[in-house]
Amino acid sequence: MTDKPRILTGDTPSGNLHLGHWVGSIENRVALQSDYDCFFLIANMHAFTKRAERVGEIQRYTLDMVKDWLAAGIDPDRCTLVLQSEVPAITELSWYFAMLLPFNRVMRNPTLKSELEQDDVGDVYSFGFPLYTVGQCADILAFRPDLVPVGEDQVAHIEMTREVARRFNTVYCGVDSHTEDKDFVKAGGLFPIPQVKVGRVGRLVGIDGKAKMSKSLNNAIYLTDSPKQIKKKIGQIYTGRQSLDEPGDTSNTLFEYVRTFIADEARVRELEDKYAKGDNIGDGHIKAEIADEINTMLEPMRARRAELEGEAGDRKVIDLLKQHARKANAVTEETFYLAKQAMGIDYGRRELKPGQ
Ligand code: ATP
Ligand code: MG
Repeated sequence: MTDKPRILTGDTPSGNLHLGHWVGSIENRVALQSDYDCFFLIANMHAFTKRAERVGEIQRYTLDMVKDWLAAGIDPDRCTLVLQSEVPAITELSWYFAMLLPFNRVMRNPTLKSELEQDDVGDVYSFGFPLYTVGQCADILAFRPDLVPVGEDQVAHIEMTREVARRFNTVYCGVDSHTEDKDFVKAGGLFPIPQVKVGRVGRLVGIDGKAKMSKSLNNAIYLTDSPKQIKKKIGQIYTGRQSLDEPGDTSNTLFEYVRTFIADEARVRELEDKYAKGDNIGDGHIKAEIADEINTMLEPMRARRAELEGEAGDRKVIDLLKQHARKANAVTEETFYLAKQAMGIDYGRRELKPGQ
């Protein structure tokens, strides 16, 4: 146990990690893991929302995502990896939280709405699809964290989580509903009202210029892409500019990438200035510079990722997940026990016997 403030965040294993994940959330996790008690969740149950019939994919993506995390600098000695399906209290809390949220409130969640539109699932999506948003409230609150570092698209989900926490605290812990967010626990509530921390770039655009780099939109640069693939993908960014002396618009996708990935501030200003004036600067040159910077950033990740390749790497990840599930369950079982007491359904404390 530690006195450090606590963090919970995570990702759905639906493919490899991309640069949007990095700037939106993972970079923050790596930076914060020394000063916070960190729990990083692999939402493998949520992966069933879109591929319930393709469990082989979910298995593969789960291991690959953890490998990507470790390669990105998440340190398993300083954080707890949480495999969602191994933590029963999360699923159980989801049930009770589902009763505290009006159905229409869930369905109005803008992130859920855009996911349903983006995936073009019409009205044939599963009953469980919208339920994942309630599940996410439980993913978070089961750990009673202070802070949730995520990309901008998740802010709506965290707002719902904050609502559930307030509601549980007022309905079952007798806290006055006018209590300020920071005072709920002091006033006897079980759940702190967690704060959101959005990354350096809340929503990185895709290489196609679409609003969000996303696995599902097929517009992503992956942390595992080779230097050649990265060069090619950056080369695909379209600006419509014709010549070296044509003044360019620095609010375009190309310059979003310049500002996001070129570390030297003075160089960024210089490129912006030349581009805006059309001062003998070609898109190709800028693209090469961005690709170089991304490759330099990814180089140490590639080296760490290489050490985790193959079956030996799979085994290492599975062992870590098993060990860490015990640490995760120690926290969530305590939360669930306290929640049951608050809800008047406490018929004794259970003990989980972890598998081997
Ligand atoms: P999917 O297409 O399967 O929904 P995704 O690429 O949107 O995948 P998620 O697993 O939904 O990724 O997101 C994981 C985390 O990464 C979240 O905190 C999310 O906000 C953040 N994130 C994802 N894409 C971006 C992006 N383009 N810019 C900033 N943050 C992002
Ligand atoms: Mg998403």
